[in-house]
Amino acid sequence: MLHRVWGYDAFRGEQAQIIDRVVAGGDALVLMPTGGGKSLCYQVPSLVRDGIGVVVSPLIALMQDQVDALAANGVRAAFLNSTQGPDERARVERDVVTGQVDMLYLAPERLKIESTRSLLDRARIALFAIDEAHCVAQWGHDFRPDYLELSVLHERWPDVPRIALTATATPQTHREISARLGLDDAAHFVADFDRPNIQYRIEPKTGAMQQLLTFIRTEHSGDAGIVYCLSRNSVERTAAALVQQGIAALPYHAGLDARVRERNQAQFLREDGIVMVATIAFGMGIDKPDVRFVAHLDMPKSVEGYYQETGRAGRDGLPSTAWLAYGLNDVVQQRRMIDQSEGDAAHRRQLSAHLDAMLALCETIECRRVRLLAYFGQESSACGNCDTCLAPPESWDGTVPAQKLLSTIVRLDRERGQRYGVAHLVDILTGKQSPRVTELGHDSLATFGIGQDLSDADWKAVARQLLAQGYVAVSGDGYGTLVLSPTSAEVLAGRVEVRMRRDPVKTPRAGRTRRAAVVSDMPQEAMPLFESLRQWRAGQAREQGVPAYVVFNDA
Ligand code: ADP
Ligand code: MG
Ligand code: ZN
Repeated sequence: MLHRVWGYDAFRGEQAQIIDRVVAGGDALVLMPTGGGKSLCYQVPSLVRDGIGVVVSPLIALMQDQVDALAANGVRAAFLNSTQGPDERARVERDVVTGQVDMLYLAPERLKIESTRSLLDRARIALFAIDEAHCVAQWGHDFRPDYLELSVLHERWPDVPRIALTATATPQTHREISARLGLDDAAHFVADFDRPNIQYRIEPKTGAMQQLLTFIRTEHSGDAGIVYCLSRNSVERTAAALVQQGIAALPYHAGLDARVRERNQAQFLREDGIVMVATIAFGMGIDKPDVRFVAHLDMPKSVEGYYQETGRAGRDGLPSTAWLAYGLNDVVQQRRMIDQSEGDAAHRRQLSAHLDAMLALCETIECRRVRLLAYFGQESSACGNCDTCLAPPESWDGTVPAQKLLSTIVRLDRERGQRYGVAHLVDILTGKQSPRVTELGHDSLATFGIGQDLSDADWKAVARQLLAQGYVAVSGDGYGTLVLSPTSAEVLAGRVEVRMRRDPVKTPRAGRTRRAAVVSDMPQEAMPLFESLRQWRAGQAREQGVPAYVVFNDA
């Protein structure tokens, strides 16, 4: 089937075992990273087994494409979702009953409708595939209530094998998928989640737009990439700014007209070197092999989201970059969004836990890949290729600055009954006679000017990391003002040491045509690390047709 229908030579990874299991009528739960080849795991058994393979997928916008792609290989596929008119739906339903289709894609909400259920009763079903199965997990980052309906599959059609597939699952989500879908007898297939060709980099925001431009120009000029932004507004602004700088960028977000969205997506898929600037509405199920970079201008809300989004880079296995710029405002904003979010306290705690894990990844002084994989329950050793491996950040004891910042908050509150955001607190600490400081008489506070040993940028990093570590909190007033957290007292009393990450000093990058690394007196132990850097750089230089010089010791 693999040769005849798809023209491929061999199965990848565990595809063969998974397919065997489902063809034999058993259930399966498949955890495999994006681009791993999950679709074949249900498409092949759908054709091998008698009857129709029914695929439940939340990706309504992509159903037509998936059906077309299958049709191009001679597979009779159809779909049922809310975008169809009654005539078309009736035609599909007729084909399903008469066995004229091999595969049927269904939006999950269709299964709530009794007419769909009785349609399936009248058809011969080969298997149920539940794609993007993490959507059933309430703990997960992408919960869809309609997915809860999917427990009906087992209850109503107990003899039909089921295969659930996802590209993101922490051990916790993994368990929840199993429980909610009643996959008690399923065989679990957990693939290696490492994407070795993706280089992970997270840098502090200084001027996000300029950083992004420099990143694209020096490393990915002319490459296809995705830039993720949190809001529709910043998507529009960023896309326009990139275009103005001569980069072929297109916007994508849910607020755009459907036709514009479709056109931009098609252009991104078909043409070379397009940069798609998008909200996270873009990307799930998109299969473009040569996306060379995924950049985040705002911090994702969860590690799962980050992993899934960055996973869209480098599906072809060639070197690619996952680049994220993150700053103080990201933390303040996201904490505020959580505080103001609808839902109960448990829901907010859950969002908060997701954010904390993401912040821990941003602030880690360990290998990014090790941290990322550990989040998915996978052990690994330092990769030698991420930013922290290449330039290990030092950590320093930030307890005293932390105490200075916290006591400024305490004094403002006790003595004046006031709260402020980070910028003003930094002005006070660094002893700046800003108009606001003078006007409010904050130059008479005991902490005025006690932080002159650190720069503004250092203070912002201190605040960011205190927020990340939960030693200070964003108030719920909607203005991003800072207040004490339940653990602030520990710091003020000197009962804990606050470790902070010192971001490595960036050496300015050379331009496009001259790029050199000069390393002298390299200790022998550092050679393997250096070698992986060299190979990666050389690969990039080759791709972009620029010379790269690497000089080390006297060689
Ligand atoms: P996933 O759903 O896991 O993200 P897909 O099923 O979309 O991944 O597959 C990603 C790409 O890999 C597709 O272009 C697919 O055709 C290709 N692919 C999958 N399995 C194989 C295989 N055994 N041989 C060659 N190409 C494959
Ligand atoms: Mg898929
Ligand atoms: Zn690493």
